[in-house]
Order: sequence, then structure tokens, then C-alpha cells
Amino acid sequence: MDCTKYFDFEDRGQCEELAALLFPDVRETPADMFARYPERKLPEGAKVTRFAPSPTGFLHFGGLFPSMVGERLAHQSGGVFILRIEDTDAKREVKGAAASLMETLAYYGIKFDEGATADGEKGDYGPYYQSGRKDIYHVFAKQLVTEGKAYPCFSTDEELEELSKQDMKTVVKEKDRHTDPEAMREKMLGQRKFTLDEVRESLAKGEKFVLRIRSDGNPNEKHPFTDLVKGKLTVPENDEDFVLLKSDGIPTYHFAHAVDDRLMGTTHVIRGEEWLPSLPKHLQLFRYLGFKVPKYMHIAQIMKLEGGAKKKLSKRDKGANMNDYKKMGYAPECVSEYVMTLLNSNYEEWHRANPDKKYTDFPFSINKMSSSGCLFDFAKLDDVSKNVLARYTADEIYRGLTEWAEEYDPDFASVLEKDPDYTLRALSIGRGGKKPRKDFGIWSECKAYMGFYYDGLFVITEQLPENTDKEDAKRILTEFAEIYDSGDDQQTWFDKIKQTGEKLGYISDMKVYKAEPEKYKGSVADVSGIIRLAVTGRSSSPDMYEVMRVLGKERVRARLTAYAESI
Ligand code: GLU
Repeated sequence: MDCTKYFDFEDRGQCEELAALLFPDVRETPADMFARYPERKLPEGAKVTRFAPSPTGFLHFGGLFPSMVGERLAHQSGGVFILRIEDTDAKREVKGAAASLMETLAYYGIKFDEGATADGEKGDYGPYYQSGRKDIYHVFAKQLVTEGKAYPCFSTDEELEELSKQDMKTVVKEKDRHTDPEAMREKMLGQRKFTLDEVRESLAKGEKFVLRIRSDGNPNEKHPFTDLVKGKLTVPENDEDFVLLKSDGIPTYHFAHAVDDRLMGTTHVIRGEEWLPSLPKHLQLFRYLGFKVPKYMHIAQIMKLEGGAKKKLSKRDKGANMNDYKKMGYAPECVSEYVMTLLNSNYEEWHRANPDKKYTDFPFSINKMSSSGCLFDFAKLDDVSKNVLARYTADEIYRGLTEWAEEYDPDFASVLEKDPDYTLRALSIGRGGKKPRKDFGIWSECKAYMGFYYDGLFVITEQLPENTDKEDAKRILTEFAEIYDSGDDQQTWFDKIKQTGEKLGYISDMKVYKAEPEKYKGSVADVSGIIRLAVTGRSSSPDMYEVMRVLGKERVRARLTAYAESI
């Protein structure tokens, strides 16, 4: 073939002709797009961020991360937080996934200002589903062809099949890309050799094409780049003529990312670090399109410890699916706060100094984010949860617990709700003050913790200490049952416990007892322990005086007597 007949990318006339052939229906220009989506009027320093999930499944723990960062950065700066649904891969799309993602995000208190919502789309920069933006992408695709920066690649059905397989793995791993880079390069350059007549012919036959970028990059050329999380990087130029539009006219992630984030005015692109290898492509695209490059924040993957080694938290791991936490019994605030401890290294310190503040009061800072993988750990989550729930009021606990129980333990829910006032009084013990009790971190632990308040759930779970004289125990319980009165003040109540023990040779002065324990049968602590076991069924409980008042005189007496009889 005569090479001079090949399409000449430097010839503006030819490029315009090609653009008109490929996109005959596109009449708008990028200028029209910029007029339709004008620059946002926001205060100085305001950040525009977006969470851009693909509706391919549930919200992953690793997805809550970027969404929380985006939310904090936007709302802390008076900016805008957008929910964009990246549904360009119909094959991987899961029905109902977008709705369920929205529900889960709302459950974790993540609020968006713009974007997809359960009741349609909200905001002036939509559509917020990429599937609704095809016309917009085509305007910019046409522009690139007009400028000789993109070209069509007509393929046979088999080739298209292969291409669509590749597109399914949207993240291109550089090392897997070519086994023989030279041969690939030859092939790629070969694709650029076509004539306008060939294009006309293929189009007339109804053949499909993908649109490829005409890359000018040299991978040996590397440029410094600063990622706000990863720090200073060196990014090679992209030399691959990667696909911009698939054969159905739908954009690849790369192209949609550049167009959408430009038009939506995104200032900070916050996404998982698995996108870092694609950065050379994105930088090239922004340059080709004449767009200002946004700031990038590539968030480290979440790791877990397995057999002493760090591994990526995979979709199937416990804790990966954000919908599972509810069933496990975690309040959403506990999980959010835990994520915060992983996101900002100074969060816990701040929280200790400001125990009554919410995580949304914390001055979140990009500088304090870890550039390497955060370790996911249930023990730490439980610890954080206990601290969070310790600050809840009895009302808040009641609401969270009954809501959880109604769904996952309805029998327990009906026990709790039978006498709400009684349950609230039980839950109030040990709350408030400087050192609130930290008895439970998850709702599913509550039954074991507070079951003893309810006769139907009350069981003696422990035994009297070995050295307890059974006859003494019996007498302590029966005698105390006779004199116990829930109207007594704390001092009178305690004096009665002391008296009961003293009669049997249990000393009340702990100092004296500790100096010569062998001289006594035991101390007032032993006496209290026996009573506690009879009343609560175990050796530790919240403040006994308060617990007994909640239980009431009749119930306390009945338990003391019943246990005395069982010994
Ligand atoms: N749809 C992409 C994903 O789910 C979004 C990446 C991004 O935030 O740009 O990974």
C-alpha cells in the first residue's frame, strides 16, 4: 500500500473529516459543555470531592475510607461532596447495587450535597450516573479526534470480544500488559495506519470501532508528581494507545474520569491506590484535553494480619462488607469512629482531649494520613466501640439496642420493650460522669451483660468462691433478705451488709482484714460478693446499690432467698 495515503494526523482537514465520520450526530463543542457546567462559585479553599463507586456489589470497608475522607474534606472546607455512580461496565453491574450502596452510605452518616440519591438525582452538574453522560463524552472524544489525538480502531468480532475482556479488568497492571513490548508497540503503531476510505467502508458495513488515544508518551521519560497521600512520586509517560471509548460508545474509566472530574469541578480525586498505575494515562488525558490536573489522593489498601503476615483485606474477609456490621451489632458511629482512628494518626489523642465531641468536630488533616496500608483489627474496633457507647445516654443506648434487637433478636427486643422505663433505669447505671462504664461495644453483647435484670433471662453463671462456708452464705443471704429495703440510702444499705457479715465474723474494716486475714472468716467484700452472685448471677456487675434499686425489693428478696435455698 502507498504509505502517503495513510491518514495524516497532522492534517487538520483530514482530522475534521474523520471526526465528522465518527461522530456525525455530535454538534456541541467543549465550549458548550463548559458553559453548561460553569465553574463553581465557592469560598477560597473549598474542596470539591466525589465518591465514585461502580455498582458492582456491596460497600467494602476499603470503600468507606475514601468516602469518609471525601466527605470530611469537602464539608470541613465549605465545599461540595458528590456521589457519582460509575456504571459504564454493564457486564459487571449488579442489579440494585447502586441503591444498596446509597443506603449503606446513608447508614454510616455520609451525606452528599449532589449526585445520585434514592429519590433521583440532585444538583446542577449531572447526570450523576455515567451511563447518562454518553453525549458529553462524545463531545470531548470528537474534539480529540479533531485535534489528531485519538483515532478509531475497527476490529473483528473476536478482537472485540478480547477487548471487552480486557476492559473488564479496567485497572491495567503494567507488568501484565505486554509480554513482548516491542511487538506490542509495532502492533499499536500499525493500528494508526489506516485511510479515510477504509474508515468510510467499515462504517458503511456497520463495523464497530473503539476509540484509542494517540499516545505521544515515552515511558523512559519520567516526571515528578506529588500525591497528597503518597507523597513525592516519579511518574513515567504513558506510551499505550489505550481505549477511550468502547465499541458501544461507552467510555473507559480513564476517559470518563477526566471528563467528569473536570466538568464537575472536582478539586481532589480521592481513590484507592489500585489506580496509581493508571495515573500516567490520566495525566496524559488531562493534558490532551487541556484540563487542569486535580489534586490526587491515593488511599492505601486496608490490610489484615493473617498468620503473622500482612495481607490485603479481601471482599470475602470478615469485616469487608459494610452491611455485615449491623448484624454483628456495631452501631454505625462506632465503625465511623474506628475508621477515623485509622485515617488520621492524631485522632485518638484529639479524642482523649475532647471526649464529648463527635468525629465530625475533629480537624481532619491530609498530612496525618498514612501512606502505607492501614491494618484492620476487630479488637481495636471493639475497643473504640466500647468508648463510643460509654458516652451514649441511656436513651441513645435504648434506641440503638432495641432497633438492633428488633431485627436480630426479637425475643430480647420484646423483653427490653415490655417496660421501657425499667430498661432505661437499668441502662442508666454507670453512665455520665468522668469515667463512664465500658461494659459493651456491640449490641449483641448486651444480652449477656444485662440479661440478669429480667427474670426470664436471669441465670446464675458463676459459683461461690471455693473457700466460702456454705452455711455462712445461706445465713448471709437469708438475713440480708429480711432487712433489705430499696428505700434505704446507700450508707444504710451498706451498713446492713456490714452488720450481716460482722455477726458471722466477717470484718468490715478492709485495712484491718488485710493486715491479718487469717484472724477472720473473711471481709465485707466476701459478704458483698455472695449477695452479688445471688442477685446478678455473677461476680462482677455495675454498682450493686443501684442495681438492687432497679431490680426492686421483691425481686431482690426473691433472688436472695432462692439462692440461699439452692446452696
Ligand atoms: N469507579 C471507580 C472504583 O470504584 C472509582 C475510582 C475513583 O474514585 O476515581 O474504583
